[in-house]
Amino acid sequence: MNYRHHFHAGNFADVMKHVLLLQLVRALQKKEKGFVYIDTHAGRGAYDLEWAATGDSLARKAEWPEGIGRMWERAALPPDVQDYVERVRAFDRDAGNLLPAPRFYPGSPRLVRQLARSQDRLVLCEKHSAECAALRAELGGQAGVSVHEMDGYVALRAMLPPPERRALVLIDPPFEAQDEFAQIGDALREAIRRMPAAVIAVWYPLTGRARVDEFFSIVRQQNPPPVLACELTVAGETAPMTMKGCGLVVINPPWQFDRAAQPVLAFLADALAQAPGGGARVEWIVAER
Ligand code: SAM
Repeated sequence: MNYRHHFHAGNFADVMKHVLLLQLVRALQKKEKGFVYIDTHAGRGAYDLEWAATGDSLARKAEWPEGIGRMWERAALPPDVQDYVERVRAFDRDAGNLLPAPRFYPGSPRLVRQLARSQDRLVLCEKHSAECAALRAELGGQAGVSVHEMDGYVALRAMLPPPERRALVLIDPPFEAQDEFAQIGDALREAIRRMPAAVIAVWYPLTGRARVDEFFSIVRQQNPPPVLACELTVAGETAPMTMKGCGLVVINPPWQFDRAAQPVLAFLADALAQAPGGGARVEWIVAER
């Protein structure tokens, strides 16, 4: 595995994914009963943005200035985006940054940990040893948190259904493997069979519409519960960049999640635009019944 999330931490895709993830957690917390949060591809939990453009033989351009960097000093944010930025700010400050620009960025496990109640539980899986060691140093040993150095797809099979009977799963792979969408499809089939009511969010890059539409048809073939697709594009089809946008497919989205996501994505499409022709889309790919 060559993928290191450090290079991408805090980019536009992280902003989108993390704002929607916090919306999902808050929606599940409307009920008093606790739930398990399973992060199948958890990463290292925290990122030093000063390292973002260094660390391997390739020339890298830091991506966070076009993501969290755009949000940092911006006024009049929608409430859910404001909440996300305040959480990142608190993390950055607590990690020791005294400078005006952001430096320390929380990954999905850290963000969910901040919001988790005593009745909620976090199961964090990371296959890469060095990343998992960093994650363990960040969050291991905390009450209600377990860290596993293992394949997230295998872990998901082992951990559903959980004793709580309520689950939020984030599947956020690096998409290095050619067959990543197929692996996700297999994991979803098994997860839905084991726990039809699980809320499962899958992040995907928009590098080609055809691959994503094929993924949607894999999802539909499984006759799953309701599925919502939330997409953000920061540039139009003809722009030269490889990843023009990203999406989050949500299986069993909480009630009115579509209505909460729409204005946030519309705001982000404008605030994070890098070239003309971007936009936001919230669409049921399997309708609510
Ligand atoms: N979810 C994290 C966040 O939002 O902060 C970012 C995760 S990053 C996109 C993907 C991570 O998955 C990388 O840290 C990579 O090492 C890890 N990974 C790759 N293949 C994996 C697998 N099969 N199981 C678990 N982790 C894997």
